[in-house]
Amino acid sequence: MAFEGLADRLQRTMKKITGKGKVSEQDVKEMTREVRLALLEADVNFKVVKDLIKRIKERAIGQEVMESLTPGQQVIKVVKEELSELMGGEQSKIAVADRPPTVIMMAGLQGAGKTTTSGKLANHLRKKHNRSPLLVAADVYRPAAIDQLETVGEQLGMPVFSKGTDANPVDIAQEALEKAKEEHNDYVIIDTAGRLHVDENLMDELDQIKAAVKPDEVFLVVDAMTGQDAVNVAESFNDQLEISGVVLTKLDGDTRGGAALSIKAVTDKPIKFAGMGEKLDQLEPFHPEGMASRILG
Ligand code: GDP
Repeated sequence: MAFEGLADRLQRTMKKITGKGKVSEQDVKEMTREVRLALLEADVNFKVVKDLIKRIKERAIGQEVMESLTPGQQVIKVVKEELSELMGGEQSKIAVADRPPTVIMMAGLQGAGKTTTSGKLANHLRKKHNRSPLLVAADVYRPAAIDQLETVGEQLGMPVFSKGTDANPVDIAQEALEKAKEEHNDYVIIDTAGRLHVDENLMDELDQIKAAVKPDEVFLVVDAMTGQDAVNVAESFNDQLEISGVVLTKLDGDTRGGAALSIKAVTDKPIKFAGMGEKLDQLEPFHPEGMASRILG
């Protein structure tokens, strides 16, 4: 389960305050101190923690709690609402183009889970939204990446557009769009190249693909288990490419939750989906409120 380390700790902190018939300023101070430590230990961005604690304190010492009949529970409600808000509040929707196909460009570092997530997303769109996506293999630098996407396509029984490793990724993306129009595929999911680190060549190529196909969504795929590194990667991609949302993978193995809790606040881009396992049906729309409830129990 995601976040169990953080959840355990926060739930223990909250238990101390739940039943209180009266909550003093001292109680709030102790509670926020423990929440602060738990979040920092979970690898949540320092500034994000600072701002969050300030907001929780202001509200928890304010009227809405002090005048409530169940102040202990009211404090927990405040913490839950603030955690949810931190992760984006409302669940964000996936774009639909006025004229199909809707184009989704997938970006991210190698190993983050981009290819798997492209397949998962295609599967999600078919299952939950009755769409017929075309997957596009635009990672021409690793022959294995193309094979991998083709295998994913076979497993799902979905078409994969590829032109081998000799073609130019921009041409591939453009031709794929034409093909999707001919074949009436209403979504096009472009699996782009990843590298081990953020570098100029990678960004240039992604920029060119983006300019050529004008995607409706640019999703950055990041590995939740890398904590603040994932946040830094998201920041660089957003600065250089202007992403529209994040897919957080490997949340199933992330006991801490640092990336999930920091990315929206740092980049101002929502987490749209979470990867919860290796299988192609293990992708979930990201619900900030549900996540906050899961963390606080
Ligand atoms: P890419 O290099 O970014 O295209 O990454 P891949 O799609 O090849 O994924 C790298 C590894 O991460 C593979 O072993 C995937 O099965 C695994 N993976 C991807 N998403 C998830 C996830 O949500 N949970 C878990 N546990 N593993 C994942």
